[in-house]
Amino acid sequence: MTRRVLSVASECVPLLKTGGLADVVGALPKALAEHGWHMRVLMPAYPGLATRLGKRPKALWQDADLFGGPAKVLGGRVEGLDMLLLDAPHLYDRPGGPYGGPGGDHADNDLRFAALSWAAAEIARNGLADGWTPDVLHAHDWQAGFAPAYLRYGPETAVKTVITVHNIAFQGNTGAERLEALRLPRAQFTAKGLEYYGHLSSLKAALVTADAITTVSPTYARELMRPEFGMGLQGVIGQRANDVSGILNGVDTEVWSPEADPAIHAYSAKKLGAKKTNRAALIDEFGLGYFEGPLAVLVSRLTTQKGIDLIPGALSEFTWRGGALIVLGSGDPVLEAAMRREAELNPTRIAVRIGYDEALSHRMFAGGDAVLVPSRFEPCGLTQMYGLRYGTVPVVAATGGLNDTVIDASPAALAAGVATGIKFAPTDALGLAQALRRLADLYADKRTWARIQRNGMKAPVDWAQSSGQYAALYASLAP
Ligand code: ADP
Repeated sequence: MTRRVLSVASECVPLLKTGGLADVVGALPKALAEHGWHMRVLMPAYPGLATRLGKRPKALWQDADLFGGPAKVLGGRVEGLDMLLLDAPHLYDRPGGPYGGPGGDHADNDLRFAALSWAAAEIARNGLADGWTPDVLHAHDWQAGFAPAYLRYGPETAVKTVITVHNIAFQGNTGAERLEALRLPRAQFTAKGLEYYGHLSSLKAALVTADAITTVSPTYARELMRPEFGMGLQGVIGQRANDVSGILNGVDTEVWSPEADPAIHAYSAKKLGAKKTNRAALIDEFGLGYFEGPLAVLVSRLTTQKGIDLIPGALSEFTWRGGALIVLGSGDPVLEAAMRREAELNPTRIAVRIGYDEALSHRMFAGGDAVLVPSRFEPCGLTQMYGLRYGTVPVVAATGGLNDTVIDASPAALAAGVATGIKFAPTDALGLAQALRRLADLYADKRTWARIQRNGMKAPVDWAQSSGQYAALYASLAP
């Protein structure tokens, strides 16, 4: 018998993506279908998205007053996904990105995403016009965080709830005076309930009301209970330790496969030769000079979370030893400027492209020798897994999902023939510089290097294992 899950999130590939969250939300329905779970994804109908549902999308749910205006949910299929778009023009029909514009975040984001959560809870409790009702509501991150709370604090329901924390840094904080506007019961504004340091947090609301809590790697699940990583929520999560699990994200191997990637010259673990063609093309594209060391690439938001500020202090020995670096990303203007400056200082070895460019990212993963991920914290991380698939050896900080997906090239791992990359700790400039030194050494040893590349390409980074873990979790909640 097919069971049903309503997945609720603020972004989903292929409709809208600002980060890894969208990749995961878009990949889960396909992965779970194989385990007998039918998943529909509810997200806001940002401008232009409803047209993607086809000519006459069906209205499957409506509300005359969803937090200040009329709203409906439109259903349709997009590239194999069963999408539900919450069409509420007073909340979502505005210029800019999903969360804000050049002037900063939208001032009413608490309301915009409380509305998404409200609609989700109503659909979970009462079903859609086509008769579909879920067994499980799966909320992603703070934007969907009030959904489990609305279900918990409203009329009794059999629907079970899961909250997945993709990044604890984003908590959906807002003022306590917003309780009534957000349709939350004042009686629950207690330390065990909705109250969060005198304020409200939609993520905390989910952490205390959802039936199960997951995050996107086993290491991050443990880290979240510690003050260095929990960002104020460590106590809340620690109290629910028995309900917390870490399930690694997977990679969509239809999109990320060096054998079948239309953006690159194809190659495989058996025939690594064409990787050199990609490398030469990439070096050419960025106008780098001749160098004999490894070509490192980095594709990332440029933020301190990602450790971008550590790079300038860690590069000199690496480039002196023949290494080169290409960076693609955007984010904090100070870090963008710092990266540009590195490229100006050493234009034959360091190149930087500020911006977001999916096709270029594919060429970089194919053409690079190594991918850098020096994050201070990283719930799961995707680019190290793309690196594994593409034989582009990951050099990562030993934190979160980076720790769980890469096997460090320690003497023991090299002797056993299982190493897939380089891990370093602590996450500081010295740690990164030493990791880059190890990278240069390993790269110089061609046989060992090829072994590490091939090990990585064989590593299981698809959804096979993780989708089974989600299915098992759902089944444990709604047997
Ligand atoms: P996060 O979600 O914290 O940004 P992840 O590693 O989980 O980090 O996911 C980031 C995703 O966004 C990856 O798919 C990565 O390739 C992609 N990405 C990040 N920056 C860029 C960019 N400038 N151009 C293209 N893709 C990017």
